[in-house]
Amino acid sequence: MGAMEPYSQRLSHCTCCPRHCGVDRLAGEAGFCRLPSGILISHAGLHFGEEPPISGSRGSGTIFFAGCNLRCVFCQNYQISQEFERHPTWLMTVGDLAVLMLQLQDEGAHNINFVSPSHMVMQMADAIVEAKGKGLRIPVVYNSNGYDEIESLRLIRGLIDIYLPDLKYLDNDLAERFSAVGDYADIVPGVLREMLDQVGHLQLDGAGVATRGLLVRHLVLPGFLDNSRRCLAFLAELSPQTAVSIMSQYTPQYQACRHTGIDRTLTAEEYDEIVEYALELGLDNAFIQELASQGLLIPDFNRDKPFDTDAGSGEGGCSGADKAGKKPS
Ligand code: SF4
Repeated sequence: MGAMEPYSQRLSHCTCCPRHCGVDRLAGEAGFCRLPSGILISHAGLHFGEEPPISGSRGSGTIFFAGCNLRCVFCQNYQISQEFERHPTWLMTVGDLAVLMLQLQDEGAHNINFVSPSHMVMQMADAIVEAKGKGLRIPVVYNSNGYDEIESLRLIRGLIDIYLPDLKYLDNDLAERFSAVGDYADIVPGVLREMLDQVGHLQLDGAGVATRGLLVRHLVLPGFLDNSRRCLAFLAELSPQTAVSIMSQYTPQYQACRHTGIDRTLTAEEYDEIVEYALELGLDNAFIQELASQGLLIPDFNRDKPFDTDAGSGEGGCSGADKAGKKPS
């Protein structure tokens, strides 16, 4: 690719994520993620519910892309990741997205936080280049599910300051069962190594706000503690200094009530066991959540402010036919 060629040219034969669909998104085709090349945004605004180094005191400038390259049955963002056709979205140009980033900076955001960027990585990269040219100074956060294409990450090297990926599974059977992806456990280790190589360990400023580095999120699933142990052991092997956010906020959302095992919340005993294991492994740079945050951090994208941490109160629970009366309000 020539130096000046837009990153989005890559969408003519899309291998932006590990699905490698090969479709021509520029010609209007769509692959597994169901999105052609247009930039579809579901929500943007200051968010105070991320980890303290990401939200800081003034909030993280979140930009939520519609759609996803996974199909997690427990997705807490299912309204915009899986059912985005039924919810309000904005179709944007690269220029519009750059303007949005600058607006969030003007509103005082500590960073620009792209949520679910794996299938929009090229469009996002073009917008970052444009925004930087117009005065974007704050760090850019890549907040992904971890199912990223390493070649895409290499291509955008230098544009991302903070990587905030999930490490959901190191068990392909679980990944297939709950996220419709059979090779997650094969892909994600290389992704995390690449991210660490690009930005290093998490660095904070004097106020404790992240300026650069890698912060890995692991959501503890009820009843699948072996998977959690495997994930944490991998992170300790990657480096004991790896910053990890051990998340306790699991509640059965979306289609999770159909799946035995994950049709309940996490218990305090399960969470404590995993936190203790992380400390035994020497993962001292761990962010721990209050169990009371279960439900509080579950968004409802039908509201102007989807998060309780930002305003209002959430519905939570499984959606659609899973539980009568629990459809998004
Ligand atoms: S970004 Fe979408 S179209 Fe491209 S490879 Fe991934 S799922 Fe397929």
